[in-house]
Amino acid sequence: MKLEILDLGDRKARFVLSGVTPAFANALRRAMLADIPKMAIDYVDIYDNTSVMFDEMLAHRLGLIPLKTNLNMYKLKEECDCKGAGCSLCQVTFTLSAEGPCMVHSRDLKSSDPETVPADDNIPIIELKEGQKLVLTAVARLGRGKEHAKYQPVCPPGYKYVPIIEISEKCDSCKQCVEACPRGVFAVDNNKVVVVSPYECSMCELCMEACDINAIKVSADNTAFIFSVETDGSFSAGEVVTRAADAIRAKAVALGEVMESL
Ligand SMILES: [Zn+2]
Repeated sequence: MKLEILDLGDRKARFVLSGVTPAFANALRRAMLADIPKMAIDYVDIYDNTSVMFDEMLAHRLGLIPLKTNLNMYKLKEECDCKGAGCSLCQVTFTLSAEGPCMVHSRDLKSSDPETVPADDNIPIIELKEGQKLVLTAVARLGRGKEHAKYQPVCPPGYKYVPIIEISEKCDSCKQCVEACPRGVFAVDNNKVVVVSPYECSMCELCMEACDINAIKVSADNTAFIFSVETDGSFSAGEVVTRAADAIRAKAVALGEVMESL
């Protein structure tokens, strides 16, 4: 297995994973979506709501606000010593108090833990008109994406096969393919057509259609995958990928233990 990082930002990553099966690539994608515990608001006590929005709608909006998550500080509720009752090791409390006229933003949620705060402070929650009030407390806890979409730390991660672009000897350098490709995969070097950006190829095959003498062949390498990952800010992009790999490893270890006990 080989990993080549193409871009690594705080919230976005692009990398090539090679020497794996399509099943493993899909397992990594699914682990990123469903198996990484993330903090999200799960319970809301509304003391006063004279806004135009129903309590349930408001609670739903609060649940979807991405929260920065430190997995070294908190445990899943079901794995906590409090046995699910809720304590400072498994949950964080937020308070919100606002009176119109104003726009209530995610930054108005005051957290009991300065590290567990909204990933973006400018997410609008509701607009309050003159005299409208909103007072609530909200409790966030860890959960997994397979339980509810609000616990997904990523915008759906995607991958595609690494393309194999072959230009045969019979190429007469007519450059039709260079013009046909919408992604700038080809360039001309010393009057010869060369592949300069293979990872940009979307396998649309316009180059193959443009080539009158069938000198280009585009196929897919089904052991190498170009991944694109974008997080919602709850984790860094690098942490999401390593946590997903940890989740797969933990499942494999658990399966091994089961098989040994048979
Ligand atoms: Zn607890």
